Amino acid sequence: MTTIVTRFPPSPTGYLHIGGARTALFNYLYARKNNGKFVLRIEDTDQARSTQEMTDAILDAMHWLGLDFDEGPYFQSERGDIYNSYVDKLLASGHAYYCSCTPDEVEQMREEARAKGLKPKYNGCCRTKGLGPGPGRVVRFMTPLTGKVVFDDLVKGPIAWDVQEMDDFVVRRADGSAIYQMAVVVDDAEMGVTHVIRGDDHQNNTPKQILIYQALGFPLPLFGHVPMILGPDKKKMSKRHGATSVMLYKEMGYLPEAMLSYLVRLGWSHGDDELFTMDDLLQKFSLEGLGKSASVFDMDKLGWTNSHFIKTGDVPRLARLLGEIITTTTNFQPAQEYLQAIVPLFQPRAKTLKEMAEQAEFFLHEAEALPYDQHAVDKFLTPEIRQHLRILAERMETLASFDQKSLENMVAAYLEECGIKFKALAQPMRVAITGTTMSPGLFETMDVLGKERTLARLYRAVSL
Ligand code: GLU
Repeated sequence: MTTIVTRFPPSPTGYLHIGGARTALFNYLYARKNNGKFVLRIEDTDQARSTQEMTDAILDAMHWLGLDFDEGPYFQSERGDIYNSYVDKLLASGHAYYCSCTPDEVEQMREEARAKGLKPKYNGCCRTKGLGPGPGRVVRFMTPLTGKVVFDDLVKGPIAWDVQEMDDFVVRRADGSAIYQMAVVVDDAEMGVTHVIRGDDHQNNTPKQILIYQALGFPLPLFGHVPMILGPDKKKMSKRHGATSVMLYKEMGYLPEAMLSYLVRLGWSHGDDELFTMDDLLQKFSLEGLGKSASVFDMDKLGWTNSHFIKTGDVPRLARLLGEIITTTTNFQPAQEYLQAIVPLFQPRAKTLKEMAEQAEFFLHEAEALPYDQHAVDKFLTPEIRQHLRILAERMETLASFDQKSLENMVAAYLEECGIKFKALAQPMRVAITGTTMSPGLFETMDVLGKERTLARLYRAVSL
């Protein structure tokens, strides 16, 4: 049985975007699921627009998502001679020819075709001239004059292209460099790629590529073209719709496993399942689940997915990730142990780690620096209430054990003594301890803050 080989060939002219990551994921999953190989190839032939920085950024993003590859990265910029040796083969076998028409002349041919209401094409005038190499000469592929290119798309089913839709396209430029179609075919063939799964923005390239495969006698891979990802307005997703770069989602506090679970659903389904771990995906992924219609990127659903993975996430790991966000965005340097106590309080309520960092910030301030919501102070910390808080603080000092249960019992006893309801003191205590009216449970919060911090805050609130 042949080994299944898939590939991801990004062009390093921009960051890894949502659509690219989704394509990479499909290819990764298909290879992994079938004990195959996943190849990474950097398509950096556009020297003017490709940068090392973008290559590194793409590799970082792949690493963050956990999409590790078995082979590569290959760099197309280092493989020009290989592509050209295959152009030479096409020339030798009569599947390509030199053309001396200037760009202006070709443009004129197109113009004439347009004027007649025909598809603008190069008219093939150098086909039979038997020209050899020379300055300004390109090499063109000799596209058959009649017939159809037919392939059975893994996603869309049978697709047929009339060759008359195509002209004799250039395979080597006048500067001696092979064009993209050539490079892709040669690479995919040499790298043993068996399944080309890519966005349907490449569907128009496939017939040309198939002709090149056939002319070079390479076995054809299977092609699957996945529909585009659209923004909420049903237009192709772009920066107008929000962040498109995957790593921006890391910065915004999304977990890689949530990204993967969400991305896979953009164009793939498995019954009504919405949430997938990598293990689930490695069991359930199949090409049959790829859908024919475009999917819409939905931030709310991504948020929902992320909440799920935060709720169910491993606490020490979440604490470490939270710590990274806190130390890169603030001056706080919280201890890992403290963060591990904080995280469970926010797991049920934070949609992103960034949100968690914001919600948890009150834990990090020194008592003197804790910002107070003035409106809440005016409303809840009345002179009478402050007296209660002072007494509560004094009693807390004497508690043998400063845990949730002891705190609850102590406060309950005090309320009973004074004949007041918990409600009357709950918000004031919350404001005193957190600076605001919104926080996790009061006693859990005090427990995590610990005795020293809790008391310092209560005394500060009393004296505000
Ligand atoms: N380099 C192309 C891109 O980034 C991918 C081409 C392919 O998948 O064949 O869009």
